[in-house]
Amino acid sequence: MNILKKIPVKKKKLLSLIKKYKTPLWLYHAKTIKKQIFKLKKFNIIRFAQKACSNIHILKLMKKYGTKVDAVSLGEIERAIKAGFKKNSNDIIYTSDIIDNETLRKVIEYNIPINIGSIDMIKKIGKKSKNHKIWIRINPGFGHGHNKKTNTGGKNSKHGIWNTKLALDLIKKYKLNLIGLHMHIGSGVDYRHLKKVCNAMIQEAEKINCKLSYISAGGGLTIPYKTSDKEININNYYEIWENARKRISKKLNCKMKLEIEPGRFLVAESGFLISKIESIKEVDKRKFILVNVGFNELIRPTLYGSYHYISILPKDNRKINYLDTFEAIIGGPLCESGDIFTQKKDNSIYTIKIPKVKYGDYIIFHDVGAYGSSMSSNYNSRPLIPEILIKNKKIIQIRRRQTIEEMLSLEI
Ligand SMILES: *Cc1c(COP(=O)(O)O)cnc(C)c1O
Repeated sequence: MNILKKIPVKKKKLLSLIKKYKTPLWLYHAKTIKKQIFKLKKFNIIRFAQKACSNIHILKLMKKYGTKVDAVSLGEIERAIKAGFKKNSNDIIYTSDIIDNETLRKVIEYNIPINIGSIDMIKKIGKKSKNHKIWIRINPGFGHGHNKKTNTGGKNSKHGIWNTKLALDLIKKYKLNLIGLHMHIGSGVDYRHLKKVCNAMIQEAEKINCKLSYISAGGGLTIPYKTSDKEININNYYEIWENARKRISKKLNCKMKLEIEPGRFLVAESGFLISKIESIKEVDKRKFILVNVGFNELIRPTLYGSYHYISILPKDNRKINYLDTFEAIIGGPLCESGDIFTQKKDNSIYTIKIPKVKYGDYIIFHDVGAYGSSMSSNYNSRPLIPEILIKNKKIIQIRRRQTIEEMLSLEI
């Protein structure tokens, strides 16, 4: 275990915060979000894929720092509006492969552009809303992702439009207003792969041959989860896309803006999950450290075999000796054997080196701002846990803990 990843909050403050709000809790650091947004400032438009972290107060921060927002459900549209993003504008885009009647009614009422992922959507919108602003989300025929489940292009992906020609014919037939082309083919960055994506975008744009206002590079920018991971080279990423934008703009003879649509990149590193050690138990010769969060809070390790850096916060004034360690498996409280944070993609479990800890010490999961809280559930009838934001050194509770009564109330 090394101690390279730091928490941007002093130990004393962390302990007082824990005392006040109790564990487990999510903690976010506003300044980290601001820093990440700033790294992408070369792009004409930064559109936050809010599914990564959709708390209204996080969305407010995004708005304050100048990003726009992507919504993938009616719930996310309403969240964005609550956070101050405007209807009748380019602030919010609805991206999906389907649209149900209720969402369609609202999207028309709010006059929100729609990023179309299926032929059926085109027909449905076309019949109800002439001239509606739409984008096409293109499946370029191949994809990429840190895991099979996050690969969003190719034959095995349900996402996006496969037959652009058919889509264009229908868009013409229904007189929809096509304003942009979008490609989000998965999470993780590989530059060789990226050139292929951009070339596919250029080819698709040539087929379209009408005035477009935008192209979107989608999301997928990753962050260094492991201390040995390298940060991605944003300039390189930008240059490859900006070249594609220029070429398409020239070919179609119109001015175009380049959007990027990150989720993970903007919020992952800002988030921490603070848990308490409830048991250190021995099973045969192996040690299990059981904490009071499970995959109902943080599902990434169970779902994708994702790695999260872990640090220790002692409950008292002990100094943690990071050189004196033992091997342990980290697990949660759920009544399910897959509730293990140290597991690989094939679900096999592994041990990590942990310094001498005691019952009641705290284990902090790092880089959980993306797909942490937003993927949480009430599994095992566990209430949702609080979210705390640190902004200009102030501690703000941005979501309180759900009570058991609230959780049961839908059924009573
Ligand atoms: C999930 C998603 C993103 C964000 O992906 P990240 O890997 O978090 O950057 C962007 N666009 C669309 C359409 C998505 O579904």
